Amino acid sequence: MSSEADEPVKTICPYCGVGCGIRVREGEERGEMSFMPWGDAPVNEGSVCIKGGAATQVVDHEDRLTEPLIKEDGEFREATWDEALSRVVDEMESIRERHGPDGMGFFGSSKTFNEENYLLQKLARRYGTNQIDNCTRMCHASTVWALRTSLGMGAMTNSMADLEDSADVLWIQGANPGEQHPIANSQYFRQAVLEGATVIQVDPHANKTTESFDIEGTERHMHLQLEPGTDIPLLNVVLKTILERHEEEPDAGWIDEEFVEERTKGFEDLKQTLADFDKEAAAEECGVPLEDIERAAEKYAMGTDAAIFTGMGMSQHTCGVDNVQNEINLALLTGNLGKPGAGVNPLRGQNNVQGTCDVGAMPNVLPGYQLVDDDEARESVEEVWGFEIPAEPGLTNVEISHAIGDTVHGLYVMGENPIMSEPDGNATEQRFREDLGFLVVQDIFMTETAELADVVLPATTWAERDGTVTNTDRRVQRMRGVHKVHENTRHDLDILSEVGTRLFDEGFDFDGPETVFEELREVCPIMHGMSYDALGEEGLHWPCYEPGDEGDPFLYEEEFETEDGLGRIEGVVHQEPKETPDEEYPLVLTTARLEEQYNTGTMSRRSPTLSRQQPENFVDVHPNDAERYGIEDGDEVRLRSRRGEITVRADVTEAIKEGVVWTTPHFAAASANRLTNDVLDERSKIPEYKAAAAEIEVEIES
Ligand code: SF4
Repeated sequence: MSSEADEPVKTICPYCGVGCGIRVREGEERGEMSFMPWGDAPVNEGSVCIKGGAATQVVDHEDRLTEPLIKEDGEFREATWDEALSRVVDEMESIRERHGPDGMGFFGSSKTFNEENYLLQKLARRYGTNQIDNCTRMCHASTVWALRTSLGMGAMTNSMADLEDSADVLWIQGANPGEQHPIANSQYFRQAVLEGATVIQVDPHANKTTESFDIEGTERHMHLQLEPGTDIPLLNVVLKTILERHEEEPDAGWIDEEFVEERTKGFEDLKQTLADFDKEAAAEECGVPLEDIERAAEKYAMGTDAAIFTGMGMSQHTCGVDNVQNEINLALLTGNLGKPGAGVNPLRGQNNVQGTCDVGAMPNVLPGYQLVDDDEARESVEEVWGFEIPAEPGLTNVEISHAIGDTVHGLYVMGENPIMSEPDGNATEQRFREDLGFLVVQDIFMTETAELADVVLPATTWAERDGTVTNTDRRVQRMRGVHKVHENTRHDLDILSEVGTRLFDEGFDFDGPETVFEELREVCPIMHGMSYDALGEEGLHWPCYEPGDEGDPFLYEEEFETEDGLGRIEGVVHQEPKETPDEEYPLVLTTARLEEQYNTGTMSRRSPTLSRQQPENFVDVHPNDAERYGIEDGDEVRLRSRRGEITVRADVTEAIKEGVVWTTPHFAAASANRLTNDVLDERSKIPEYKAAAAEIEVEIES
């Protein structure tokens, strides 16, 4: 480890994708450590939100897993590492013998580092399967798909800093940075507004982002509060308005004709798609006045540099790819790509969800988004790895889960908690409990998933190890660890290294994360120019193709990274959520996260500071619905869908639209994911977390 006992280490906050730098100082006693600000950290310059400030609280938590565990007769018993790893390797070999390599699935983790996810995906591929995936499948798989196929790279086109300096319009759709990316919101977006930028927020829920732009003396914030699942019609109204106004005033700059002509294809397709589009009917469907949408269209189109930010309100739909494609259409039509202060920018959820994808922990791509079914790409990686990589893309993580007991018989889960994170949690739990032959979980706490495991491997936390993570704007940064808290825990990388070596003899024996990074950069063109030394304290944005490259804060200045160098415009049409309200379930259920909690709550629920702020789940109910159901603010209610029910406190608020209820996935006993629908976007396979049919019952039986 890189620390001296009395010298704080500079590392990165383990929570969201903003990638704030923090410092960790060790105390005199083993495990004692405290948070310190890192004043000149590149992304946040010392500021942190409540999660970042509380991050060290879970490192020495009493619930830490400290010894390997093996389940026997339904009970865990402590085991030696040798016993536990032998069991893992024996089971994996046996599954491969009986069912072939696709009998196993591997889940990487956005809470772990680039090197660790790189090694896990290499392990899966050496085992003989591309069935490796990570939680991006739950958050931005559709965004990555649309960006990669239409522009070339599955990531933010710009960086937070270049937006702050240049953007004069921020279009924020289906994202709530005030809640989920607090430092990006306060340090970059709010600052841009104070300097004159206009914000157009598109969200069914009024939230902390809405409040944060209510700045005295400025009237540069519009909130289009649409019905859940109507993002395509809303954007089609915007696009049609721009097309119409361009016809009327061809020189007014509604469309960037030169950009469309020289750098895109598909414009005619968009025009055709919208030829008979009825704006009035669409605005009514969205529940937003037509003139408000038209005004927003004008502000965006007339902006000099207009940046789109997109979140899970867009991506977590069965039409997630099309939702994001329509944002790309808007940016391409108006020439808002390939320059600072513009672009289409997904705000990534976890601190390394971008990196986990970049290093190839996905079933269809190798490191650097090289397609696994591209012979040339595969061969170039095979040359370094020295073994053959399967050519067929594997199943995605929800598909792997659905295939349990059918084609999938074993799962290797590193730092993920699918029992809580997957949709239709009751069915997921049943499959894991009853149909899965073998489950190994590598984690820091006994998660809801680890409880069902056959073997549990105790790992170390973010604060105890070295490696790299990649934030939402493609900045690769180093994390530096202090000493281990518990003697018999092991770093994720060491565990994978040993499992790999026991299974395959060679290819997995590394003496630390830097040597893994050196191999990663050999097979990952977009990171080829990086090294630990070059990353230093500032980090580097990818793409960084050759040593000495400074990395690109914005992409596509000259051309897009598509085969023909052109950006792809493609008209899209509205598709309703797969489950809509009916007599039995008359409400629309939508879900989102809280600032003070983090995904499945494995870490945040154990932080005293964060739990004090948000100790339990709740559901937002509109006052008219509350009156109809006889609900008082604070009542306990039962929220039901076709898949299950949870009991939560009602929060009666006008922040949500009538007919819509809103709740969160963070709390084990009452997670929104007991209710959500596990239907998938056809292409990207992301589940539809954002819209399902639900009902509320007020009477709670004792
Ligand atoms: Fe951590 Fe995100 Fe908060 Fe920054 S904004 S301190 S990265 S949780």
